[in-house]
Amino acid sequence: MVHWSPFVVSFKKRYPWVQLAGHAGNFRAGEFGRLLKRFCECEQQCLQKLMGDILCPFVPGYYGVVQRDEQDYNLMDDLLADFDSPSIMDCKMGSRTYLEEELIKAREHPRLRKDMYDKMVAVDPGAPTEQERAQQGVLKPRYMQWRETLSSTATLGFRIEGIKKADGTFNTNFKKTKHREQVMQALEDFVNGNIQILKLYLQRLEELRSVLEKSDFFRTHEVVGSSLLFVHDASGQARVWMIDFGKTVPLPAPLTLDHRTPWVEGNREDGYLWGLDNLIDIFSSMLPQ
Ligand code: ATP
Ligand code: MG
Ligand code: MG
Repeated sequence: MVHWSPFVVSFKKRYPWVQLAGHAGNFRAGEFGRLLKRFCECEQQCLQKLMGDILCPFVPGYYGVVQRDEQDYNLMDDLLADFDSPSIMDCKMGSRTYLEEELIKAREHPRLRKDMYDKMVAVDPGAPTEQERAQQGVLKPRYMQWRETLSSTATLGFRIEGIKKADGTFNTNFKKTKHREQVMQALEDFVNGNIQILKLYLQRLEELRSVLEKSDFFRTHEVVGSSLLFVHDASGQARVWMIDFGKTVPLPAPLTLDHRTPWVEGNREDGYLWGLDNLIDIFSSMLPQ
C-alpha cells in the first residue's frame, strides 16, 4: 500500500562535478544544485545585471555572495545538476581573449619575457622573430597577440577550451585547433554523430543569437574570455549557457558594440557575435542538407 505524503522532498542526486577550464581551487560544490565560484567583483556585477536582462535564461541563476573559510564566493546554479552523465564542452567566445586595458597595462613597463619566449618556442620553434631569438625574450603584448593566432580565436572568433564526454574521455588539448575542419571534427566527436543533439544545439544557439542582438547588457559590455557551456546527455536534452564573466566590463556611455565589427585597438569590439555566427554556420553545415 502506498501512503500519501503531504510533503514532496526532492533529493538532488550526487554526481561528480566536472570543470573544463580555470584553476581547480576556484570552485566549490554548493547545496541544492548550486555552485560556488571564487569571488570576482567584475563577475558579480555582470551576473547581477544579467538577472534583470533578457539574457537571464541563458546564464546560470545567480544568488549573491557567500563566504566559506573566510573566502568570498559568487553563488550560482550548477548547470550540470539536471543532467545524467553529461557530455560537456566549453567554447571561449570572441576574437581576442584579453581586454584592451590588459594590453595597455602590458605595454606600460616593457620588459623582455624569457618565460613567454620559452612558451612560444615550445609550441612553435619558428614563431619568434630574428630579434626575439637574439634577445631570448618577447614583449608581453606581442605574446598575447601571438597566442590568439594559434587556435581558432583569431580566425573564427571562438575556440574550444575543453570537452568531456559521457564515456569519461576528457580533452583540453585544443590550443592548436584552428581550422574549420578541425573544429568540425571535434564537434562531431563531441556529439558522437548524433544529429538530434546537433539540431537542438543549433536551435539553442540561434535563439541565443537573436536574444543577444536585442540585449541591453550585451550592447553595453565588452565581453572577453566568456564561454558558452554546452551540455547534453543520453536522455536527449541539449542546452547551451553563457558562463564566465570575469573579463566582461561595462563600456563608458554612450559607447556600444555590435560585436561583429573587426577589432582595431580603441574600438573595444570583441568579435563575440562574429564568432557565434561562425559557430552556427559550422553546426548548420554538419547537418544533412
Ligand atoms: P578561466 O577564466 O580560466 O576560463 P574561470 O576560473 O573563470 O576560468 P570558468 O571559466 O567560469 O572559470 O569555469 C571553468 C569551468 O567550470 C567551465 O569550463 C565549466 O566546466 C565549469 N563551470 C563553470 N561555471 C559553471 C556552472 N555554472 N555550472 C556548471 N559548470 C560550470
Ligand atoms: Mg572560462
Ligand atoms: Mg574566467
